Amino acid sequence: MSIQIRPAAIAGLKVREFEMLIDGRWTGGQGGIIERVAPGHGVTVSRYQAATELDANRAIAAARTAFDTGPWPRMTGAERSNTLLRVADLIAANAEELAWFDAVEAGKPIAQVRGELGGAVDIWRYAAALARDLHGESYNTLGDGTLGVVLREAIGVVSIITPWNFPFLIVSQKLPFALAAGCTAVVKPSELSSGSTLLLGRLLIEAGIPAGVVNIITGTGAAVGSLMTSHRDVDMVSFTGSTGVGKLTMRNASETLKKVSLELGGKNPQIVFADANLEEFADAAVFGAFFNAGECCNAGSRLILHRSIAEEAIARIATLSAKVRVGDPLNDETQVGAIITPMHFDKVTNHVAAAEAAGAGIAFGGGGLDLGMGQFMAPTIVSGVTPDMAIAREEVFGPVLSVLTFDTLDEAVHIANDVDYGLSAGVWSAAMDNCLGVGRRVRAGTVWMNTFMDGASELPFGGYKQSGLGRELGRHAVEDYTETKTLNMHIGARSTWWVQR
Ligand code: NAD
Repeated sequence: MSIQIRPAAIAGLKVREFEMLIDGRWTGGQGGIIERVAPGHGVTVSRYQAATELDANRAIAAARTAFDTGPWPRMTGAERSNTLLRVADLIAANAEELAWFDAVEAGKPIAQVRGELGGAVDIWRYAAALARDLHGESYNTLGDGTLGVVLREAIGVVSIITPWNFPFLIVSQKLPFALAAGCTAVVKPSELSSGSTLLLGRLLIEAGIPAGVVNIITGTGAAVGSLMTSHRDVDMVSFTGSTGVGKLTMRNASETLKKVSLELGGKNPQIVFADANLEEFADAAVFGAFFNAGECCNAGSRLILHRSIAEEAIARIATLSAKVRVGDPLNDETQVGAIITPMHFDKVTNHVAAAEAAGAGIAFGGGGLDLGMGQFMAPTIVSGVTPDMAIAREEVFGPVLSVLTFDTLDEAVHIANDVDYGLSAGVWSAAMDNCLGVGRRVRAGTVWMNTFMDGASELPFGGYKQSGLGRELGRHAVEDYTETKTLNMHIGARSTWWVQR
């Protein structure tokens, strides 16, 4: 069994009441109140406004006006860049308060969230740098009579919809790039973890972002998400969440042919060859599967092990799993926190039970942990999984590792690719031929070689197949929030169509 850290009651808890940010003002909603019960502590920690379509309409109208007539899109790149740098500094200065909300509302280990906040600050700074470098192209090669100039223009109003598992990090993968391009936005965080995004609203105002440029509304997808993805005054939707809602988003946006950027689910394989460094791999396997309680789009939830080392690799991973510290999200020592809701806990444990019923075995863990409050699950290793089982194909989104085996590189690549998802993958081998052979043939947006889940603001991130559409981060991230316009300019006398005949 893993090491357990029983949650302590939250000291001096005062339930935080939040309003929404619309057109530069904090305001109530029309749909009542949403209460957030902390998944690790079982008590209400936040109350948000439940927005209605009326509220969403107000937010979209404010963003539209700010884009059509406001100062933000008309500023120089340098001015926008300086504002984004001020936001980054404010995030860094308020990191502890922001981290507390993500830890408590999403059940994430506080030490891990502090790392995510550091990553978010870096992304805001990177976007600030790109704001000054956004440019188009010129063509001076079209003959004496023509000069072609290709402009990059801000696309307009962007709806940004985010999930609960990395509340602050994911809004930071979208909003600063949209702002760098000169767009305005309506942001809707998950109704389960809206606190840190609402706190960001306060920092944006403090940094000098003009009223209406960023509007933050809270509520369910059913109440306001649909309108945010279909409204004719919205030009683009940037969505991160489940593949099911991603498809719905694309359908809604198709009515008005909005640009859509989708970051969706994953079923990410790690392929391990017989010559891999098993000590390093075992550590990465445990990290990849149990980080964020496996509630991670990038979770390395499928191990595809060469048959000759499978037994030893599973034994090493089980030994490390017993050292993982599960429990109180607010304890500095915790590595795996709580499961987001009781309903989601049931979904994860049902997946494990179904795998057992289908003939798989449990090599470690397997069920819930009673820590006196909240809902927690033991890191779990399911062995003897075959590619046809649901646990090998569907996103479980919990601390559950499925283990499959292979004999040849071709077979490993086939198993890796034979699912609907294609977000990321890992390959472990001392031989470059194995790493590159797999790396080039696996259909995934990111392939790690002899490491797992590393990232940087400079490196694009996104999925193949049903893991998404488009890429975030990287030097092209700002361009995603632009339209392309051609200026075709004539020089000198024009040879006319009619006169020549
Ligand atoms: P979800 O799809 O249930 O919800 C995501 C967001 O969409 C929430 O804000 C929700 O309120 C909103 N929403 C729900 N219904 C909507 C609708 N009809 N129209 C518009 N918006 C709607 O996902 P979740 O449970 O919050 O997050 C977990 C999922 O997110 C997992 O599948 C995970 O893989 C995925 N994810 C992907 C990435 C990535 O970058 N690829 C990152 C994190 C999470």
